[in-house]
Amino acid sequence: MELWSRRKFFLTSLTGSVVASAGKLFGGTRSNGGGPTALSNLAPVAQGKRPLIISSANGLHALDKGMDILKKGGDTLDAVVAAVTVVEDDPNDDSVGYGGLPNEEGEVELDASVIHGPTHRAGSVASVRRIKNVARLAKTVMEKTNHVMIVGDGARRFAVAEGFEEVNLLTEHSRKIWLAWKARSSFNWRPGIDSPEWKEHMAAIFDGDETQIAYAERVIAHPPTGTIPCMAVDANGDISATTTTSGLSWKIPGRVGDSPIIGAGCCVDNEVGAAGSTGKGEENIKISGGHTIIEMMRQGKSPTDACLEAMARIARNYKNDKKKLGTFHIYFYAINKDGAHGAASLWRNGYEPSKQASYAVHDGTEARLMACTAYFDAVGGDQ
Ligand code: ASP
Repeated sequence: MELWSRRKFFLTSLTGSVVASAGKLFGGTRSNGGGPTALSNLAPVAQGKRPLIISSANGLHALDKGMDILKKGGDTLDAVVAAVTVVEDDPNDDSVGYGGLPNEEGEVELDASVIHGPTHRAGSVASVRRIKNVARLAKTVMEKTNHVMIVGDGARRFAVAEGFEEVNLLTEHSRKIWLAWKARSSFNWRPGIDSPEWKEHMAAIFDGDETQIAYAERVIAHPPTGTIPCMAVDANGDISATTTTSGLSWKIPGRVGDSPIIGAGCCVDNEVGAAGSTGKGEENIKISGGHTIIEMMRQGKSPTDACLEAMARIARNYKNDKKKLGTFHIYFYAINKDGAHGAASLWRNGYEPSKQASYAVHDGTEARLMACTAYFDAVGGDQ
């Protein structure tokens, strides 16, 4: 897949009409144009199908791997970890694993979590450097220790002890973007921004490639986020989930988002379903989004409506002020025990220009993208 199209970045300059036509393409949204979705107007719980595996849109090409395991009667946690490992290994996905965009010091720091529904066990790791497959590492924490969460250098050392290979996670692509970010944000790392040398400096970093320069300028202006949550239910109704990420680009070293937080970026109750999230993790942590979604589904809400309720709590934290909410993006994804699924996005648009927010679903035939239900039927950004 093409390198530059994969990165999710926050969108500020799209006109509504571009996104509105993209919306038609993808099947539209259910929200009410500029205000929160009317929660009284709930969709019926969608018919489920098992086995089922879903993820954020960047997992579209990886879901086959998980579905193969589910079809052979394999374990749901093995299925979701196998799927996200494909994305962690992919240097072209700069939101996860190898090739993830680094922290402000140029170090890639990864977060991940797993939950195994049938045995009610969980594992997670945060701020891990130099270990590529952190979803598998989180699973190893779950299987081999009496802990749930290990962070920082302790997690790296645990990984080495368990036979994980140490690697440099920074690709040439992410190193150059990081250098460009440093050049833009620090006087020390660039010629004067208004000087003729600035353009030359950017051209030198990217060998004159205008597409890469434009991309770098976008992600520098709007530090991107990106992640893959993945959840599965098998033919028997057993459920597992994982979330793995390089977190917020240019973060302060040691910053941890929602992805490794059990009950926020990842939540499973084998009697109910599973939930995950992408986007600004800080907002999710404040409302324990994953747990909220599970409890809403327990009360009978569809996966989509449960995701919308979590979104409503985030919006309420900002008194539904769209200007403030427009400074970030966030998605929730959920499945229930019957194999029904849904996702909600704060804004109608995805991170990429001209695309509607979407997620990836595989229910046995083939993996496909489906539209998220938008909480605000409007384009996010600095409005
Ligand atoms: N939620 C992740 C975090 O806050 C990042 C993302 O999904 O984009 O670390």
